[in-house]
Amino acid sequence: MTQSLTNSFVSRDVRKVRQFIFKIIAVGDGTAGKTSIIRRYVHEEFDSKYIKTIGVSHALKRLCLDDTEITMTIWDTGGQELFDCIRPQYYRGAHGVLIIYDVTNKESFDHLDKWLNELDNNCGKIPKIIIGNKIDLTDKRVIPAEAGEKYARQNFVSYSETSAKTGENVFEVMEELAKLIISRSNKFRAARAK
Ligand code: GDP
Ligand code: MG
Repeated sequence: MTQSLTNSFVSRDVRKVRQFIFKIIAVGDGTAGKTSIIRRYVHEEFDSKYIKTIGVSHALKRLCLDDTEITMTIWDTGGQELFDCIRPQYYRGAHGVLIIYDVTNKESFDHLDKWLNELDNNCGKIPKIIIGNKIDLTDKRVIPAEAGEKYARQNFVSYSETSAKTGENVFEVMEELAKLIISRSNKFRAARAK
């Protein structure tokens, strides 16, 4: 008994920990909930007042997945929903993207094409997740989950739904994005080693 405990302690102690820093960006129409999702994830808070994001901001959050430590630097695409010409600066160097729409706002769903096109032009094929946000507003929902899933499937992108208000699925989505980025980097490494 003592022996096996000692062994398990030693093997854990010498285990190699991989460390990554990922740049995550959030895009989507104004008021879809980008700032709120980031805030919920990083600070575990929600504010029902709408405060328009002005300027660039980014927040850090540490995440551990098995033997990997990840620092997520999450960039809030500050108000540049309105400024097409400056958005490419935010895209530079991004490892993963949250594409957020509001399930109670059809226009924000209809604009997903525009966001996907812009990401393809600026970031290439990095991991992306489309997020239908505000699912707590069940009475006001106009885009059913099936429509969001179908759109994402047709565009070969992962799909999730969240509520920044209740926190539903927010942590899970971030973890999923981190896993997608790691698995993509593992594939690259394996291809290079060949
Ligand atoms: P952004 O412009 O995409 O950054 O959107 P914000 O995060 O600023 O959110 C816009 C408004 O929607 C604010 O009033 C938020 O409180 C509200 N909001 C954001 N996410 C949710 C949600 O999941 N549920 C509800 N009920 N309101 C939300
Ligand atoms: Mg904002």
